[in-house]
Amino acid sequence: MTKSVHHWIDGNEYVAPSDRHGDIYNPATGLVTAQVDFASAALVEEVAEKAHQAFLSWSTATLTKRAQTLFNFRQLLDQRKGDVAALITAEHGKVLSDALGEVSRGLEVVEFACGIPHLLKGGYSEGVSTGVDVFSIRQALGVSAIISPFNFPAMVPMWFFPIAIAAGNAVILKPSEKDPSASMLLAELWKEAGLPDGVFNVVHGDKEVVDALLTNKRVKSVSFVGSTPIAKYVYETGTKNGKRVQALGGAKNHMLVLPDADLDLAADAAVNAGFGSAGERCMAISVLIAVEPIADDLVGRIKSRMGQIKVGDGTTDADMGPLVTEVHRDKVASYVSAGEKAGATLVVDGRSASSIGDGFWLGPTLFDHVTPDMSIYSDEIFGPVLSVIRVPSYEAGLKLINEHPYGNGTAIFTNDGGAARKFQNEVEVGMVGINVPIPVPMAYYSFGGWKSSLFGDLHAHGTDGVTFFTRGKVVTSRWLDPSHGGLNLGFPQNS
Ligand code: NAD
Repeated sequence: MTKSVHHWIDGNEYVAPSDRHGDIYNPATGLVTAQVDFASAALVEEVAEKAHQAFLSWSTATLTKRAQTLFNFRQLLDQRKGDVAALITAEHGKVLSDALGEVSRGLEVVEFACGIPHLLKGGYSEGVSTGVDVFSIRQALGVSAIISPFNFPAMVPMWFFPIAIAAGNAVILKPSEKDPSASMLLAELWKEAGLPDGVFNVVHGDKEVVDALLTNKRVKSVSFVGSTPIAKYVYETGTKNGKRVQALGGAKNHMLVLPDADLDLAADAAVNAGFGSAGERCMAISVLIAVEPIADDLVGRIKSRMGQIKVGDGTTDADMGPLVTEVHRDKVASYVSAGEKAGATLVVDGRSASSIGDGFWLGPTLFDHVTPDMSIYSDEIFGPVLSVIRVPSYEAGLKLINEHPYGNGTAIFTNDGGAARKFQNEVEVGMVGINVPIPVPMAYYSFGGWKSSLFGDLHAHGTDGVTFFTRGKVVTSRWLDPSHGGLNLGFPQNS
């Protein structure tokens, strides 16, 4: 008998017969371990109405009360982070230390949102005209939908919901149907933290649920993270239905290594950022641009490090776990075949990892002499496949990055501060690392890419997050001396 994962609605697990379900696998064994309920459009309607009712009262809770609830949630999550991480490893496959890391990064956003009383402070101008003062306030939107991908089942939702809730909104989270259990534990922790029922809800499902959220009149904002085609669809459909939308898409992150770089540091970084979490990170490095004459040396150092990576079940002492599903593993493996066919040099072939067992295995894979016309360069593969492109100059490397449709993250490795500074200024990418391969911004900055990696104007968390989950209002007030100006039909000149 496999476990069942239900929805979380109005403060409780929602256990009711469901017409549609999804299978959840343990990627390390390839076995189905649970079934998740898929919501119908009618159920989404019900949840949205309940969330709206909860919003009406939560948005009037004092800032002190809201901040205290956030602090409670922060403490509970810190105590239970091992349990959240274990659920992630069981359904996603990433190694436990990596799963713990993702919960910690999510906790940082919760900590940021604990400062909501400060973050919501507006401006005040006294005496803009005779007896007239002006002040600005920010108010909650209503019901916020969050739709998240499989690769960070706890961290990505936490990029959004701590700030949305702290700002006074109610949330409906639609996590990935591939690894939905972490979100259920987060829901329980919210309840234990004292969040009123209905402010945080979880509905599971696929396109049907997403479409129901995108068209629901109670849903006022949509925060989406996933692949670029779906991000674009969510942005277009959500905005057409009058919603505020931020939709973060896919990536192809390049690491540019200049000849003066510390090659051991660069090789460590390429291996960690290329193969950590089996390359299933939106900030993974998937292309390394080596500025000659260092390519032979650098490829050699990367290859020797790759031999030390232990691939195995994420609950053991392995460095890298399996891929999330069989379909995804096969897709990534098909890119390895395509790269070989296109003429790239296959330096390390990860397909031999299939001998580990019945799970969804693919080992770290390295291609050299990749060219921009190959699909392993143009497409987001989202697996443990690193492609090396050799270029003659910094300018040629920069051109490749800027001409690529994705613009999520990038990194430069160099010991030349002037070159690094030129790069940070010239590169058309949203998040830049200098001798840092995965430059994920801290919670008090904002996370987001450029070009096809983000649709919308505001990035996740930081001040952008506060702006996204609130709308501004400016109040002009006049408290007169007991004297009156009389009739004046002219537009005020405020002199
Ligand atoms: P995905 O696009 O398949 O799914 C994302 C979400 O959309 C899931 O909740 C899924 O149920 C839903 N969905 C799937 N198909 C849909 C459809 N046809 N209509 C409406 N909704 C649909 O992405 P994934 O495979 O879960 O995650 C991997 C992708 O996410 C990669 O492309 C990765 O780069 C991207 N990602 C981006 C960031 C970022 O910050 N830019 C962060 C993490 C992941």
